[in-house]
Amino acid sequence: MKDFISILFIEETEQSNQEVKLRLEQSDFSVIPFSQNSVESLGVLLQAHKWDLIIADIDKEDLDLSYTLDILDQQEFITPLVLIGSEIKNDVLYDAMAAGVQDYVAKDNPDRLLPVVAKEIRNLRKQRKYTQTATKNQIFDRILKKSTNEVFLMDPMNLKVIYANDTLLDNLGYTEEELYDLSAKDLIASYDIRNVFEKIAPLYRGEENSTTFQFDRKRKDGSTYPVEIHVEVTQEDTRQLLMGISFDISRQVEDAKIIEKQKQKTRELELNNKYKSQFFANVSHEMRTILNSTLLLTNILKENRYENLNDDQLEYLQTIYHSNNSVLELLNEVLDLSKIEAGKIEVRLDEVEISDVCERAERLFKPIAWEKNLSFECSLNGIANNILKTDRLRLDQVLNNLISNAIKFTEHGSVRLEIVKANSDRAKQNGDRIAFKVHDTGIGIPDERQKHIFKSYVQAEGSSTEKRFGGTGLGLAISKEIANLLGGDITLESEPGNGSCFTLFLPSDSSDELAQQAKKGKLRIESKPDVESPLVEFPELETDKSQGTVLLVDDSSIHNMALKEFLGFSINKCITAESAGEAYEVLRQEIVDCIILDMYLPDADGKEVLDKLKSNGNYKNIPVIIYSGKSLAKSEEEELLKKADAVVQKNVNSYRKLLETVLERIG
Ligand code: ADP
Repeated sequence: MKDFISILFIEETEQSNQEVKLRLEQSDFSVIPFSQNSVESLGVLLQAHKWDLIIADIDKEDLDLSYTLDILDQQEFITPLVLIGSEIKNDVLYDAMAAGVQDYVAKDNPDRLLPVVAKEIRNLRKQRKYTQTATKNQIFDRILKKSTNEVFLMDPMNLKVIYANDTLLDNLGYTEEELYDLSAKDLIASYDIRNVFEKIAPLYRGEENSTTFQFDRKRKDGSTYPVEIHVEVTQEDTRQLLMGISFDISRQVEDAKIIEKQKQKTRELELNNKYKSQFFANVSHEMRTILNSTLLLTNILKENRYENLNDDQLEYLQTIYHSNNSVLELLNEVLDLSKIEAGKIEVRLDEVEISDVCERAERLFKPIAWEKNLSFECSLNGIANNILKTDRLRLDQVLNNLISNAIKFTEHGSVRLEIVKANSDRAKQNGDRIAFKVHDTGIGIPDERQKHIFKSYVQAEGSSTEKRFGGTGLGLAISKEIANLLGGDITLESEPGNGSCFTLFLPSDSSDELAQQAKKGKLRIESKPDVESPLVEFPELETDKSQGTVLLVDDSSIHNMALKEFLGFSINKCITAESAGEAYEVLRQEIVDCIILDMYLPDADGKEVLDKLKSNGNYKNIPVIIYSGKSLAKSEEEELLKKADAVVQKNVNSYRKLLETVLERIG
């Protein structure tokens, strides 16, 4: 491609120098000639454009050469000026060249013109490039000096700094002269030549072009600061240099330390929390065992079989029974919440008949409401499909909480459970939702407290509510968590003095939601022990008791005592052992027909005892019933059932189930 050049002709008329212009057009350049003949506008024209060349015709009568050169001189860039003419005197030419004219071409020797133009343009390009580079270098130099990064050049032979920007000088506290006298060991804290060499050796060996590493720099005053440094090899003429860019990473190091400290703290907290949860689980297991047993013993006493207790004493027993029951409920609530928080809650999908929910609520709560002179009604409206797929026990738990709260916080009027299809705007994309609305005409809840009462341990007016009505402030928190786990929610509308309406929304089918929550680790979908009657029902004292002998192995003596009493109604002989050792001792001396085995024993794990019994020819045919408070995963239960005859979950409601299971084995 031809190089474009712009040439200004200062000449008599536009038609002058046609021959010259023609020649230029035939050259290697693409020439844009511009003719200028008026002296007045010359100055403007010279400054208006960055001409590549000016050709001045000395035959032009009013040519003012010195004026032209003056203007060119004042410009920041170079523009060559060549003279053409029919004739020029030597002294005039010398003067002109001394004043800045580049060359002269005689009109009768036009062949010379092209080489002159080519030479001038070549020189001009070189000059302009050089000027451009110099300007650029000046700018870069300024940027380097002011860069917030430390920039430096080092001689790779002696690791001495030969250039440092202002930032590096400022950070180190040295002047340029001082710094250039120093070597690497004066600038690096805990300097170790092998260490430094190891880092830059790959550059020397040509294996890598650059390397990045961190070290502590040493300032003039002896203090240090951490830097990250990037070094690469650069060529300057014939020698190689190391070019470095580094920056102070004190902030990052400080931040990293803080983050590490926080992480450490979080780890400690998590560990503490784990220990606490573990401790809590163990303690509550113990407490529940004891509470279950005292409840059982109290119940046995309340029966007054020997008719030796008076009415007062029976009332005391009733109080003991109720108090223990409340503590047990509280314990269960706290455990429930911690299980939900730990993602360990177990849920099961049941097919629930909505009309059953209604009937059950009326059966349970009518008498309680009646005692407070309140009415309790339950209604079912617009429900086409009577079946709800959800966790039956959890649904009951939430409704129980909402209805008993409603009764608790209502002095006059009524409490109502209304079950309706949820409004379509609340409906989720997948399937219908059912709304369980619990209305009351009670004390109501002030606006500002409404969003707080779903938080754990919060009651509406703080401690005054607690004193007036009792309770722990856990029920609603648990209920909301359960509703969310089942894919639903609980909302509240309330007006102080006019009552409240708590609405539990549930999808008519929670299966997708439960599967999703299980995937996220928020719950476990498990089969749970069958629903038990909430109260311990006592068997009639059998006249023809089972003649079998049962060995009861449990580390809690109070539990053994209570269960022995309970089983004693139907079974002839019940022997207790509080450890595996004691159990083996009994087995050596007695013929036993069935063994009830707890999973936690002081001297052995229940599983070990089971293995030992089943591998012993003398005992392997004795049925073993695992009776444990440990909540077992389905897989664990299946594993146990390979050797045990039955697994019964230990709780206050499972005594009867245990008894039935034993009787099936020995009856
Ligand atoms: P608690 O065991 O204290 O009843 P909840 O979590 O069930 O715990 O309830 C938290 C608080 O919400 C209660 O202490 C009470 O102040 C308020 N509350 C719950 N239900 C009602 C209601 N139906 N009417 C008025 N206040 C209520």
